Amino acid sequence: MVKETGYYDILGVPPTATESDLKKAYRKMALKFHPDKNPGKEAEEKFKQISQAYEVLSDPKKREMYDRGGEEAIKGGGTGGGFDFHSPMDIFDMFFGGGGGGRRAHSGPRRGKDVVHQLKVSLEDVYNGATRKLALQKNVICAKCEGRGGKEGAVQKCTVCRGTGMQVRIHQLGPGMVQQIQSMCNECRGEGECIDPKLRCKTCNGQKIVKERKILEVHIDKGMRDGQQIRFSGEGDQEPGSEPGDIVIVLDEKDHSEFRRRGNDLITQKEILLVEALCGFQTTIKTLDNRVLVITSLPGEVVKDKAIKCIMGEGMPIYRDPFTKGRLIIQFSIKFPERIDPVKVPTLEACLPPRQEHIIPDDAEHATLEDFDPTQEQGSSRRGEAYDSDDDQPHGQRVQCASH
Ligand SMILES: [Zn+2]
Ligand SMILES: [Zn+2]
Repeated sequence: MVKETGYYDILGVPPTATESDLKKAYRKMALKFHPDKNPGKEAEEKFKQISQAYEVLSDPKKREMYDRGGEEAIKGGGTGGGFDFHSPMDIFDMFFGGGGGGRRAHSGPRRGKDVVHQLKVSLEDVYNGATRKLALQKNVICAKCEGRGGKEGAVQKCTVCRGTGMQVRIHQLGPGMVQQIQSMCNECRGEGECIDPKLRCKTCNGQKIVKERKILEVHIDKGMRDGQQIRFSGEGDQEPGSEPGDIVIVLDEKDHSEFRRRGNDLITQKEILLVEALCGFQTTIKTLDNRVLVITSLPGEVVKDKAIKCIMGEGMPIYRDPFTKGRLIIQFSIKFPERIDPVKVPTLEACLPPRQEHIIPDDAEHATLEDFDPTQEQGSSRRGEAYDSDDDQPHGQRVQCASH
């Protein structure tokens, strides 16, 4: 038992969630509530909560601490003392292969951040492979002014902040007490430079960058998995003086109506009739690439309800080895007839294994078998039945026997 479930609730998983359940939940939630896609305080707060919950639960030690002591144990107060959460952006970058952090260690130009997009794919897409075109808006360096913002020589160091981008104001609080307030320079909006309005580039309006519509062609290879990343190196937003980050496409596999995927295996349900279960069957399964497979039972074989069988090599193709496939697992269910004509029962009975003899004692009571209604209160409507015998059992117990 866990003390509280708050962090689990934030990620929408039960406390029994596995590491991969947590990863999947974090991925979906973090991409949905990322501040880049949802401006506003509410999404930002939600993003932070998702991040903190994941940071704790993805670490076995911290998860155990949380399970035992709840949020209080994590945030301090207890003997363990609290720990500092990473910034939600750092957690996000680490999770999605952390463009910024990793490569910034090299001495070189500053690197822009990665842009992560989610791409919904069907099971057919990852079974057959697919190409999807994705239209994106991205910032590119203005070609007209080559990212200067104006004609050559038009860019001047800001005279107000002397190029620092910051303004310092002295605020008199009281006698002998001053406060220094540092804020962004209003004149240059923190850029540290100003462009003569007459020489400003007309294409980008002095912004140095322009928005461009970009079509990305995403190749989905056979066997790719839910959550797999496809990285477009250097395709992120451009910014003067820094190396662009990557565009990262994260696959989000949709549920399928016929097949469920489990690793390289595919699982499907097949309903057959009682006559087929007893007397043999031949039926078909349509594959995800629209082939039709014929399956046949063995002569004399009885297929029981919930029987599980499989076809080797008809599951999911294996990523980077697409000619090898997993198993197609078939879970059978049997459809029973509603009624059998009593006249035909002897004929049917003659084909089945013989009945078992049940010894009925002389003092046995006859009970009525009814259809079970789980919504009905136990014992409430059975009172009348308790009178037809002379035993002295409390009728609660008798009702239980009758409903076996
Ligand atoms: Zn320009
Ligand atoms: Zn300035």
